[in-house]
Amino acid sequence: MTDQSDWRPATKLVRGGLRRSQFRETSEALFLNSGFVYDDAAQAEAAFNGDVDVFIDSRNGNPTVATFEDRLAALEGAAACRATATGMAAVFAALLCQVKAGDRVVAARELFGSCHYIIAKLLPRWGVEVEFVKGTDLDAWEKALSRPTTVTFLESPSNPMLDIVDIAAVTELSHRAGARLVIDNVFATPLFQRPLELGADVVVYSATKHIDGQGRCLGGAVLGAKDFIDDVFQPFYRNTGPSMSPFNAWVMAKALETLDLRVERQTTNAARIAGWFEARSDIKQVRYPGMASHPQHELAKRQMSGFGSLVTIELPGGKAAAFKFLDALSLIDISNNLGDAKSLVCHPSTTTHSRLTEAERLDIGVTEGVVRLSIGLEAPDDLLEDIEQALAAASAA
Ligand SMILES: *Cc1c(COP(=O)(O)O)cnc(C)c1O
Repeated sequence: MTDQSDWRPATKLVRGGLRRSQFRETSEALFLNSGFVYDDAAQAEAAFNGDVDVFIDSRNGNPTVATFEDRLAALEGAAACRATATGMAAVFAALLCQVKAGDRVVAARELFGSCHYIIAKLLPRWGVEVEFVKGTDLDAWEKALSRPTTVTFLESPSNPMLDIVDIAAVTELSHRAGARLVIDNVFATPLFQRPLELGADVVVYSATKHIDGQGRCLGGAVLGAKDFIDDVFQPFYRNTGPSMSPFNAWVMAKALETLDLRVERQTTNAARIAGWFEARSDIKQVRYPGMASHPQHELAKRQMSGFGSLVTIELPGGKAAAFKFLDALSLIDISNNLGDAKSLVCHPSTTTHSRLTEAERLDIGVTEGVVRLSIGLEAPDDLLEDIEQALAAASAA
């Protein structure tokens, strides 16, 4: 077989991890089964000893799930990947498999709400010391990492303000403190940011977002070096059971075939809409990493090869204006999902970030006027017409 690691990304997305059965099917087969049988008792014994490499049950591994895992690993340039039932299962397992009471975790404070919950609320319950730092402040990382640390965790671009963290610099500080750096790479997608090449140790995804990208299945993935996945992650995964359903893996593997087409088009649309917002005088702030006005635009250009499908704006009229804007949109749906073919909008301060205190929200820039848009695959002129009439409705407040 051709060495898949030599393929270019588009080829990896269509053919990576392909496992044809004896029936020579064109499309990937769906092995919708929970278990597997053995030729004889000795083979079962050898399977449990790890002496032969066969599927034992779908909690441990499954051919369809393995196709998705290998395809994503090929794209990411990772030696190994395990798929999980949700993005949060990926984050939880990637963190919990490597910490014990007395360990220390340092994380950026700008995080997806449930990631923040795991680190701020659950880890301390199990005796893990945690510290949050402002992700864009390298001095704060350096200070927090002046003590031995087990794991560091960050998201870049962050949700919803699209802050960019210097992954190479945080990698160096993490390694000096003895920590593995885990990156939640959802907003960048595997196409536009390659954390392992920047030095990070582990990458996690919510496959629910751009990877499915069509609002069908929940899923997640953890990628890293083979010894991390096999020796640190797999025992936790096998015994706690956050595995991905083979059906969802089949949907996700097929979705990867079009990931680059969808994300490229969404990004073109998002850049156009961000530029359109910036040209208006009735928007207080536009955040898009691809625009020179973004506070970390230079860093974004250095560490990303594309700027993604999310655009965040701040309306001057606070919550009243934001709600009027959301309610007046007729094409764009109100939803906290993102990365979808359908354009979606959310009001972070009352939904995704409502569990933070007001002070915590303001610290990360989430005022009541902030609105996050996930730009989809519709004709951008239709999106702009919808946005323009909704802004008119909002300013008539
Ligand atoms: C959605 C999301 C998650 C959680 O993913 P689920 O698949 O919904 O569990 C984690 N991190 C980020 C950045 C996300 O956007």
